[in-house]
Amino acid sequence: MAMTKNGFPNATLEQIHWLSLYLRLPAGGVAEEFPTESACEDRFRQIRWPDGLICPVCSKKDFGNLTSEKFYPCRNCKTQVSDTSGTILHRRRLDLGVYFLLSAEIVRYETARSIPSGHDIKDRFGLAYATAVRLKKNVTRALTEVDGGLLGRCICVRDLTLPQDIDFGSDDHLIWLQGEDQRRRWRSVGI
Ligand SMILES: [Zn+2]
Repeated sequence: MAMTKNGFPNATLEQIHWLSLYLRLPAGGVAEEFPTESACEDRFRQIRWPDGLICPVCSKKDFGNLTSEKFYPCRNCKTQVSDTSGTILHRRRLDLGVYFLLSAEIVRYETARSIPSGHDIKDRFGLAYATAVRLKKNVTRALTEVDGGLLGRCICVRDLTLPQDIDFGSDDHLIWLQGEDQRRRWRSVGI
């Protein structure tokens, strides 16, 4: 089977990837789970630095207070470290909240296998068309990483444990996920 357009080895693995992310999105939506920019920043920091911030230059963990430009000065080598340095969000112009919402939107679209157009994203987030197209491309690519990469891990808050008797990446895996999706829909309407 040919590789999918998003670079997955086959269509089953790609569907498993997006549906797994989709089922782990917050039940009430990303905007409700992370209502403010600082809630998004806290989440990003927790995912990016689970063991606390480490200086990329000297590997020490001794920092001064967060500056108004959102840098942590390393007390040892004076490097200014930010939460997003070395990630696709480095030098971002948009709020983290926009990336979170857009990521959830892309996961939803890819799961439903209907891709958002640049115009959809431009209108939804009030961006210039060229920015919307570039953003969609970069965020989609980032979300294809294992567990959705950094952004995927930020927005995926719910547990989803594959039963032990099902092999990862198998047709049964996809069928189990689709069943899980269906069970949730039934639960949400009280069946
Ligand atoms: Zn340092």
